[in-house]
Amino acid sequence: MAKAMRVVACLTGEHNLWLLSLAVVVCGSGAWAALELYHRARHRMERQRTGWLFLAAVTAGCSVWCTHFIAMLAYRNDVPASYEPLLTVASLIVVIAGAALAFRLALEGTTSLRLAGGLLLGLSVSAMHYLGMFAYRIDGFLAWDPLYVALSLVLAAGLSTLMLWSEARHRPVLAVVAFVACVLALHFTGMGALTVVPFGSLHEQGADFEGLAMALTCGALLIAATGVASHMIDSDVSEKAMDALREMALSDPLTGLPNRNSFTRFLDVKLARAKSEGRRFALVVIDFDKFKAVNDVHGHDGGDEMLRVLAHRLRGVLKDGEFLARMGGDEFAAVAPLPPGREVEGFIGRLESVLASPVRIGSCDVLPHASFGVSLYPQDGESPARILGNADLAMYRAKADPARGVSYYEPSMDEAARARRELVLELRRALERDEFELHYQLQARLQPSEGGPGGRSVIGYEALVRWRHPTRGYISPADFIPLAEESGLILPIGEWVLRTACREALSWSGSHRVAVNLSPVQIAHGNIPRLVSEVLEQSGLDPARLELEITETAIIEDRAHCIAALTDISALGVTVAIDDFGTGYSSLDALRAFPVQRIKLDRSFMRDIAGSPDALAILRAVLTLGRSLGIHVLAEGVETDEQLALLEAEGCLEVQGFLLGRPARQVSATVDICEPV
Ligand code: C2E
Ligand code: MG
Ligand code: MG
Repeated sequence: MAKAMRVVACLTGEHNLWLLSLAVVVCGSGAWAALELYHRARHRMERQRTGWLFLAAVTAGCSVWCTHFIAMLAYRNDVPASYEPLLTVASLIVVIAGAALAFRLALEGTTSLRLAGGLLLGLSVSAMHYLGMFAYRIDGFLAWDPLYVALSLVLAAGLSTLMLWSEARHRPVLAVVAFVACVLALHFTGMGALTVVPFGSLHEQGADFEGLAMALTCGALLIAATGVASHMIDSDVSEKAMDALREMALSDPLTGLPNRNSFTRFLDVKLARAKSEGRRFALVVIDFDKFKAVNDVHGHDGGDEMLRVLAHRLRGVLKDGEFLARMGGDEFAAVAPLPPGREVEGFIGRLESVLASPVRIGSCDVLPHASFGVSLYPQDGESPARILGNADLAMYRAKADPARGVSYYEPSMDEAARARRELVLELRRALERDEFELHYQLQARLQPSEGGPGGRSVIGYEALVRWRHPTRGYISPADFIPLAEESGLILPIGEWVLRTACREALSWSGSHRVAVNLSPVQIAHGNIPRLVSEVLEQSGLDPARLELEITETAIIEDRAHCIAALTDISALGVTVAIDDFGTGYSSLDALRAFPVQRIKLDRSFMRDIAGSPDALAILRAVLTLGRSLGIHVLAEGVETDEQLALLEAEGCLEVQGFLLGRPARQVSATVDICEPV
């Protein structure tokens, strides 16, 4: 209590209150300006950040310094006094340097470094004060009370820490108040520690000191003006716009998570730290399965809702130090540090737990599925691109095998991916080098006859593309069509097939139909009706001689678009067949809605037909369906006489398979009309 009284007495009795108010104004405006500059430093990248930090430290240091000397001028002890210039300047330099270092530490963002920054700032302000007091030359003896000195240090350190804490929590007014309180509490407690015992006669302070006070005030106000100016330059519009742009550049608007840019930056920093500190971490790429179907069934709003919920759940399972970003579409990536004793399985288990319950979309519950690809630092890569790329490779492996769910990167995946990339490059060149050719496989109609084997007539030929690879020989379409679809090369390759099939069909001796396979990618991304009509016109082939085979996948991928395309194709007089029927998701409804003239029953049924009652039941059901809808049914993959006899007995009269003829380059005249069996 007595100590507090001594400080109050020092403040009211020993100081000129007018000058003291000036000191408070200078301190407050300086603190505000310094904090504005510090705030800018927080949001800038490295080089700019250093510049703003320096300005903030100069402003803060000058404010403290000016406040101190104005307050010293306000100090009335009736003893003649002067200031030693070198120490006076040194006190300014000390506080600027201290503030710069303190701000730098506090900007690192961790609690302990912010605390260290606060303590350092408080000590720098104290150092300024006491150096300033050493510069105070007086005709008398200065006696210090160590208790007050210690108290002043504690107050300064505590209040400056409070200032940095408030700033970090976006409480600027509290931060300014804390800084002013820090400087003033230090000053008055420090002055309360001081007793001046004069050696000689007592004088009034001269008016010169008031001139100095004005000069100091001008200096301080200039600092404040710099702060205001920089505030105005950087804000009107631009600061807000910059903030919005920064936000946009680094975060995903749908989920509020960091985006790919942000993730890349994070990974760079994470890797650099892990390298220098010898730490491990895991990177997990998460890709939600069948997300397109969610969009198709529930609309884009439904898809968005699903992503928002999943992002929220994923964020909820993260622990301190873990990072999650949306990389785009339905792909997310997460990073977790792996300190000694912590293994990646726990992290993955938490991520997987978000799939445990369904997501409510409108009135439906949708159970989410995802594929996880994992790569670990340091063993799975030394660069950010490699670590992320390897997690991606692992994720693709998990996606290819639905039973797997989670896949860890293995070096053998590199080799497979490299081989695929190479094949895509070669595929691109294959078109230019004319390495494709078409083989044709017979499609026949059985002509049952009473009491014995009947004859067969030709329906047409299916064009099957072959890649004549210069070193590997013939490559099956089953191997390269998926690659062509992924890379988009199916569009030019498919066009080549269509043109070539129509041209070559014209050279056949009979006027049999040619069937051409269409990929779902061609239907989704190419203008198929226009291409078909153009090719027919250019080749001069009768549209009735062309059949297009599409798979069920094409139908479900984009139903409305597919119906429109097939309707336009039918209008040209071209027929459409559903290929590989029974392997996809076709429904009766689809068969009714689509203009389809033929169903090609997948060859897997033929394999089982003799031994499996189910396969036989399916054959019968499809035949009944065909009859009722007026659609032909063709059985693919007929390899044995037994299968042929069974089909004939069931009334399935259209057949294709090795028994009738293998795909061949030439359509010979002898194949046109088949011999009786
Ligand atoms: P797909 O359209 O179902 O063609 C029939 C496939 O079954 C052909 O294989 C053919 O050689 C094979 N096959 C025919 N009869 C038998 C048989 O009795 N037993 C067995 N085990 N197989 C038989 P290929 O030529 O390897 O073609 C595979 C798939 O590649 C085709 O299946 C088709 O989906 C695709 N494809 C072929 N050419 C093209 C094309 O030009 N464009 C597109 N988009 N896809 C094509
Ligand atoms: Mg086919
Ligand atoms: Mg087929």
